Amino acid sequence: MLQHFHRKIFTQLSLPITLTAVLICLASCQTSAIAQEKQADKTTAKTTKKLKALIVDGQNNHRNWPQTTKMMAKYLADTGLFEVEVATTAKKGTDPNFKPEFSKYNVVISNYNGAAWPEATRKAFVKYIKDGGGFIVVHAANNAFGNWREYNEIIGLGGWGGRNEKSGPYVYYDDKGKLVVDKSKGRGGHHGPQHPFQIVVRNEKHPITKGMPKAWMHAKDELYDYLRGPATGMDILATALAAKNKGGSGRHEPMLLTIEYGKGRIFHTPMGHGNYSQECVGFIVCLQRGAEWAATGKVTQKIPDDFPDADKESSRKFQFEKAKAKK
Ligand SMILES: [Zn+2]
Repeated sequence: MLQHFHRKIFTQLSLPITLTAVLICLASCQTSAIAQEKQADKTTAKTTKKLKALIVDGQNNHRNWPQTTKMMAKYLADTGLFEVEVATTAKKGTDPNFKPEFSKYNVVISNYNGAAWPEATRKAFVKYIKDGGGFIVVHAANNAFGNWREYNEIIGLGGWGGRNEKSGPYVYYDDKGKLVVDKSKGRGGHHGPQHPFQIVVRNEKHPITKGMPKAWMHAKDELYDYLRGPATGMDILATALAAKNKGGSGRHEPMLLTIEYGKGRIFHTPMGHGNYSQECVGFIVCLQRGAEWAATGKVTQKIPDDFPDADKESSRKFQFEKAKAKK
């Protein structure tokens, strides 16, 4: 039932600072105007080569979604590979005006868990993925759209949203390292109290996980367990033990997964509940590498020196920009 596929990746931006620097130079160093112009051309050329990423948000049972959107946008931009845009729905209900032009982007990242999108938007989204688009599912985005068949095929596994045995099997590893596809009855989606937990890489050859420590500590988060779904074209790259003494399933639950849908590449992580969860260097790096893979099929980024190891968490405190009130 589960097939292993190995494809895709992603990129980002430091444009405002560069442009400002160039503009200051243009104003103050007129004697070298030509050189500056050349520099400006180079900057422009470099910018146009960036991959385009779109974060979709607007509704979520996680009230910190405006912050996690900012965090993920910055993480993607920090790679130097991506130019990031955000498309936000109305606060409530199906938003008839929500119709991003998905096909303009190399990768779409969902931070959305809310009302159904308009039918035309749903169709455009499925077409975008089928035609080879990249998609990233983060945390509660896998709670969304429990009854949308194609979306569930695209994300592989999901939780809540009315999911049960009709949604597809539970998929996990047992203690012996055997992959289990479990069709037994029951609801989809659960988690115990938040805690830091260890991620174990199950596929070290995939571009996203290549070069990562075999095991690494993830910062405090909800450990989603009992996820279920169609699980076709799905490859589990890494798992975490949802320990029973931490209120979990006792199973090794998928934490990094990829799905193939049509020509599309999908990277899915159920991690990312709190801002502190998304400050984990492991989360950041998986998002950055997952996006490059989803967008291009490759990963060119190095694993950074501050990546967590088997026993030690590693986080980067996120600095939110202050509101522009002074000028
Ligand atoms: Zn959560």
